[in-house]
Amino acid sequence: MTSRTERGRGSSCGGVLGTLVVVGAVIVGTVVASPALQLSDLRDAAVDPLHGEPGSGGEGYTFLQTTGSGAPLTWPCDEPVEIVVNPEGAPEGYADLVASAVDRLSTASGFTLEVVGETDDRNFEDRGYGPVLVGWADEEEVSALAGPVAGIGGSSYLAGPGGGGRAVGGMVVVDTEENGGWFSRTEPEAVLVHELVHVLGLGHSEDPTQLMAARNEGQVELGEGDLAGLAALREAACS
Ligand SMILES: [Zn+2]
Repeated sequence: MTSRTERGRGSSCGGVLGTLVVVGAVIVGTVVASPALQLSDLRDAAVDPLHGEPGSGGEGYTFLQTTGSGAPLTWPCDEPVEIVVNPEGAPEGYADLVASAVDRLSTASGFTLEVVGETDDRNFEDRGYGPVLVGWADEEEVSALAGPVAGIGGSSYLAGPGGGGRAVGGMVVVDTEENGGWFSRTEPEAVLVHELVHVLGLGHSEDPTQLMAARNEGQVELGEGDLAGLAALREAACS
C-alpha cells in the first residue's frame, strides 16, 4: 500500500504568503474482488500524484492514473461513491461542510457522491474496498500532512483483466493544523472539493487558475479544465 506525496515542493513553498500546496496522494493496492477480475498490485505503477500521470488528461487537467488502454482510472458509472465521515478533529459545522462539497462535486461531475454515515475508522493510509473515508488529522497521525499541506485525497483501485481497472475505495484527510494557510482557514469547502476530485481520478493541473492546481493561488471554484477533466472521467466511466 502506498501513499505518495511531493515533499520537496511542499517544503520549498512554505514561506510563500498566500499560497499553499494541496498534495494529492494516489492510494493503490491490491484488494479482494470477484474471481472474474484478475487482481494485480498497482503499487509500482503509482504516478507522481502532484502532476498526475505525465501526458495524461487534456487542456487544464491530468488523470491521476490511467489503465493500460489509456483510459483514466475512476469509479463505475452507475454506482454511488459512498462516503463515511470520521468527526474526530473536525471543525464545527463539518457535516454541512461535507454535504455541501459532496453536492457541488456530484453536480459538477455527474457521479453520485453520497455520505452514508459516520465512522470511527482512522485508517487513512491503507484503504481497500469500501466507502471513501473523510476525516481530519495532523501530521503526527498522517505524516504526509507535514508542511504546508491542506489535505490529501486519493483512491484505491482494482485492476482488471486487459489493463482495465476501477476505483473501489479511497480517502480524504484534511490537516487540522491549518498550516495550509488562508486556503485552509477560509475555504475549507474548496479544500474538500479539491481532495474529492482526486478521489474521482484527477491529478493536479499545471494551470494555476484551476482548483486542481497543486498550489492554490485563490481559486475556490472548479475551473474549465477541472470541469473538462471531470467530464472525461465520467465519459470513461460510462462508455
Ligand atoms: Zn491535490
